[in-house]
Amino acid sequence: MIKTRRRILEGMGIRFVLGANIGQEISFNEVLENHDAVFLGLGTYKAMKGGMPGESATGVYRALDYLIGNTKSLLDMPAGEHAYTDLRNQRVVVLGGGDTAMDCVRTAVRQGAREVHCLYRRDRENMPGSQREVDNAIEEGVQFRFNVQPLEIVAENDKATAVRVVKTRLGLPDESGRQRPEHIEGSERVIEADAVIVAFGFQASPENWFEKFNIQTDEWGLVEVEHEDDFAFQTSNKKVFAAGDMVRGADLVVTAVADARKAAQGIIGYLKQ
Ligand SMILES: Cc1cc2nc3c(=O)[nH]c(=O)nc-3n(C[C@H](O)[C@H](O)[C@H](O)COP(=O)(O)OP(=O)(O)OC[C@H]3O[C@@H](n4cnc5c(N)ncnc54)[C@H](O)[C@@H]3O)c2cc1C
Repeated sequence: MIKTRRRILEGMGIRFVLGANIGQEISFNEVLENHDAVFLGLGTYKAMKGGMPGESATGVYRALDYLIGNTKSLLDMPAGEHAYTDLRNQRVVVLGGGDTAMDCVRTAVRQGAREVHCLYRRDRENMPGSQREVDNAIEEGVQFRFNVQPLEIVAENDKATAVRVVKTRLGLPDESGRQRPEHIEGSERVIEADAVIVAFGFQASPENWFEKFNIQTDEWGLVEVEHEDDFAFQTSNKKVFAAGDMVRGADLVVTAVADARKAAQGIIGYLKQ
């Protein structure tokens, strides 16, 4: 399917350069010098940590590492830096309530995990992940625990054995307008686990070459772009456009596609000048 799409695009005159990291195998300078305009759609890949004790213990996995390792195994690809993690017969706790967490819980179930719990610090209505995915996960046997915040990953001999949690209630809205989860005193308890997957979302991961090429970012590391229609998604380097997660922050495929279409219009406007 992917190869077919690529062939169609190649037939339209698009040349793909695969397996190349811009800034490593190919310099951004080379890209910039050889093209009239450049579009960046590099996503957001810095996994957020919970900042709690025990996160570096054995048996604690970062969501994306776990998912990539599993996908590579299914596709018979070399594991590279993403080793395959087999959670068969394990008691798995997934921390987080977004789409990435949903992918983790359902992957663990399909690997044959003995039990899978998903812990989320707000209620179901406030989950960032899709409600349909929650229904599907419940149907597959995942147990959701809402209004629960992890405080610590308990480890024995540096091996995760449980997650210490506290119950929460939703309080006043924070600066983003979402109700802040408040701890309920005296409600702490421990959920036993053989494996803990941390799926707290992703932060901007600006490239270290942005500054050199005058591609400005905001205080969160997201690329700043023009919103005027004529030059939509143009960065502070007039020749460079950007869209998707690296501009919005971790979001959705549909918004990345919609923004990229506007960026294409912006590039046309710029080239017509
Ligand atoms: C596990 C997971 C589950 C998700 N589930 C959903 C879902 O169910 N529904 C939904 O709508 N969205 C989902 N999302 C979010 C969605 O994937 C993103 O919002 C969307 O892919 C953003 O598109 P993008 O083009 O901005 O970036 P990406 O799709 O992340 O693409 C960026 C690409 O740039 C490459 N790249 C980065 N840096 C460099 C570099 N220096 N040189 C060369 N290449 C580079 C990356 O390898 C990647 O291929 C999920 C995300 C994750 C991580």
